[in-house]
Amino acid sequence: MKTFDVIIVGAGPAGSTTAMYINPKESGKRVLLLESRKRVGIPMQCGEALPTYDELTNIFPGVDCPELFDLPDEVIAGRIEGILFIAPSGRRYLAELKGHMFYREKLDQWLFNQAVEKGAQYRLSTRVLRVEDHRVVTANGDFYGDIIIGADGPLSIVADSVTGFAPNRDICRCSFVIAEGDFFEEYIELRFDNRFPGGYFWLFPKNGEANIGVGVRGSKNVREILDGMLTELAKHKSFKIKQRGGGVVPLGGLKAKLASDHVALVGDAAGMVFPSNGGGTGVAMVGGQVLGETIGCDLPLSVYQSRVETLMKRVLDSSLRTRKSMDRTRRSDWLFCVVMWLANLRGWRSFIIG
Ligand SMILES: Cc1cc2nc3c(=O)[nH]c(=O)nc-3n(C[C@H](O)[C@H](O)[C@H](O)COP(=O)(O)OP(=O)(O)OC[C@H]3O[C@@H](n4cnc5c(N)ncnc54)[C@H](O)[C@@H]3O)c2cc1C
Repeated sequence: MKTFDVIIVGAGPAGSTTAMYINPKESGKRVLLLESRKRVGIPMQCGEALPTYDELTNIFPGVDCPELFDLPDEVIAGRIEGILFIAPSGRRYLAELKGHMFYREKLDQWLFNQAVEKGAQYRLSTRVLRVEDHRVVTANGDFYGDIIIGADGPLSIVADSVTGFAPNRDICRCSFVIAEGDFFEEYIELRFDNRFPGGYFWLFPKNGEANIGVGVRGSKNVREILDGMLTELAKHKSFKIKQRGGGVVPLGGLKAKLASDHVALVGDAAGMVFPSNGGGTGVAMVGGQVLGETIGCDLPLSVYQSRVETLMKRVLDSSLRTRKSMDRTRRSDWLFCVVMWLANLRGWRSFIIG
């Protein structure tokens, strides 16, 4: 009863997309999604900005899953026409990049519902404690899987407990709020200065609300920094805080080992995040599509590793190099102003994605 062809740990974007593309009803595979949360997507942990599918395919030529990014209206909160970068000096630069503001919990639930419609079984409120070979140990009993997928986010217990896989060590800690107010702009704002070491302040307008947050690397108290920024903002904008949240983002780049003969990592667990900006939702979905198709077609997991490397390694490695050179110049606000001025001359693309 508790034996499955595939056990997926985590019903976030990576896990649900993997299950969707295994397509249990068509492939005949018994797939189980194990999720520690009571309700998929809640609590929400995201800035809720996503590039359009066209932008994503420009970044990763070879991505081919338009249906996956054909988001229903209730998931989309608004259009993004570009990014407003604010330098330490206060100078503002506008970079063209099209995207959507989206409702993250609704996105997670939309993906999960499709996985279930396609025949995936699931257990909510089921925290995985560790993986021992083919055995998945949870607080609610053990499960056995021929294949086990770690789609359990940045602090992946699968990556941690299976020999040969590496945990995410290089992380950014974030704190954010959802604020209600007069936030209708079609540009998302990123502010860089030495109050946000190794990270930035973001203000993403979302149809009468805004997702406002701070990410930092190192030991500074990120919530305190955010509260300071909110006090500043309140001097010239009226808003009401509706919700608070936090989380971590892995910024160490795509992991070298994504798969063994029966275990694979995907999404944040695999380091599928742009190290230069922390965006990972769309990358996790693409990773899930590649992994799900590989398993659904009965191909070995080594094929997944090589497909991902072909599709995203060059871009994510380049984004990591950009992040590292940003780290060096961010020691001085003055120097970083020069870096941003140069990025404006050369074009923002490499600053954003590497
Ligand atoms: C504050 C913040 C802001 C962000 N902003 C953006 C943004 O604006 N745009 C963007 O593209 N990306 C953003 N990201 C990154 C993005 O959220 C992630 O890259 C994306 O969620 C990765 O999806 P995932 O499915 O791999 O992991 P997750 O979304 O983390 O999903 C993992 C799932 O596994 C479950 N889980 C974890 N451990 C266990 C366990 N032991 N047992 C069972 N279940 C478990 C979790 O409950 C969760 O449901 C942000 C991240 C944070 C933290």
